[in-house]
Amino acid sequence: MTKMMGPRWVDFHCHLDLYPDHASLIRQCDEADIATLAVTTTPKAWPRNREMAAQSRLVRVALGLHPQLVAERGAEVALFERYLPEARYIGEIGLDAGPRFYRSLQEQEQVLDRMLRASAEQGRKVASLHSVRSVAKVLTALEATRFIDTSKAVLHWFTGTQAEARRAVEMGCYFSINSEMLRTERHRTLVASLPPEILLTETDGPFVETPLGAVHPRDVKGTVVQLAEVFGVTAEDMRSGLISNLRELLS
Ligand code: MN
Repeated sequence: MTKMMGPRWVDFHCHLDLYPDHASLIRQCDEADIATLAVTTTPKAWPRNREMAAQSRLVRVALGLHPQLVAERGAEVALFERYLPEARYIGEIGLDAGPRFYRSLQEQEQVLDRMLRASAEQGRKVASLHSVRSVAKVLTALEATRFIDTSKAVLHWFTGTQAEARRAVEMGCYFSINSEMLRTERHRTLVASLPPEILLTETDGPFVETPLGAVHPRDVKGTVVQLAEVFGVTAEDMRSGLISNLRELLS
């Protein structure tokens, strides 16, 4: 088996640039055959991230403006638009209506709307979306801006209701699942109700902690084992299914 065989694992949402060893993590993703989406939190991080991942076989960089930063950095949406023609992947973007960020929700909605509209116009984008306590608003924005007509949406760390999940599935959204999402019975039940063909794995590192410290892209292997249990299939079938899902998403 040569290295040209493509990825064996997928981490579709990881903040590689927030680890102290960014360059070495990129190398490790390539060596461990992990297709990794390096999401960013501000468009200012785009040029450096692109440069760092330019030689990487399996790391792709996403252009982002995190909803939790919109209160201070909302004006950077102009920079987002400037870099957008260079970007196939978008993220992290979305909404956060949790208590700490609720005050900026209206501005978050305006910024998200602008980013989705610009992306929809260019088309063929793939976005990783944050939707804390705001799934309905995020889904409505994907429709209203026509993003979902020209591009693909992946809901990252989904914590919405069954009804919201059904709506997202009907719209054609994908879901990236991390280890935290499989910790409670309620969330495992929700994940089990999703069609396995629209699932990916993610870590959301370094924001998710393991007993050994910040989660690492290779930790998606544990999530694959957990997902295999949820769906009652072998870990190898789950793993290869997730890679097929990634190919389908990007086709
Ligand atoms: Mn994140």
